[in-house]
Amino acid sequence: MASALWYARVAALGNVVGALAVTRRAARELALIEHFVAFGAGFMLAVAIVELLPEAFVRSGAAAPGFVLAGYLAVHLTQHTLTPHFHFGEETHAVNRLAGPSALIGLLLHTFFDGVAIASAFLVRPTLGMLVFVAIFLHKLPEGVTIASLYLAVGRSGRQAVGAAALLGVATLLGVVVTNRLGFLVWHGLALAAGVTIYVAASNLVPEFQGKRGWRLPAAFFAGALLFFLTRLALNRVS
Ligand SMILES: [Zn+2]
Ligand SMILES: [Zn+2]
Repeated sequence: MASALWYARVAALGNVVGALAVTRRAARELALIEHFVAFGAGFMLAVAIVELLPEAFVRSGAAAPGFVLAGYLAVHLTQHTLTPHFHFGEETHAVNRLAGPSALIGLLLHTFFDGVAIASAFLVRPTLGMLVFVAIFLHKLPEGVTIASLYLAVGRSGRQAVGAAALLGVATLLGVVVTNRLGFLVWHGLALAAGVTIYVAASNLVPEFQGKRGWRLPAAFFAGALLFFLTRLALNRVS
């Protein structure tokens, strides 16, 4: 519990750092964070399919497929159905004034499950917890960039933009705390989080770069998946 919460704090801080890169107009950092999207997508997808899915089937048994699907659909419902506008990355076009707060509400469920994923992975074993932490952390910076640039695009202040990103971080911490106290999530949190993680990686992050030209972003994507296997190898050696 203690270590899951510690890692979740670092992940939550990623949201705030991403937002600060936007409000301070750190162009070089933002270009770097764009590659985090592709790299993080590869790492996340590998963790979700290779690690989370099999463990979810062990913990939830026959109920696992239903929970995985429910997690996937829940993100689509809150981020893209009930909310008028959401996508990862910087805001580059005109948006409705309410787009900022409504996207924040939609993202809160997803970031809550970022915390559920970290906590339930640590409940299985510490090395899985660390792998999931890396996967979550890699997309926390782009997540902060996303909400902060949307807030600025709809005319909110830099302080409000960073505050919105901080709220996303708080939801992640809450996900850890609730998972450790709620029997239902202790057992089925991993299956739900697997569905959420697959959505974020394959349906949020991949579409952000699949249309872009050049070899750098695809290379970062494949490198992310490769690094998962190398990280897992290294973690298994030391544990
Ligand atoms: Zn937009
Ligand atoms: Zn997230």
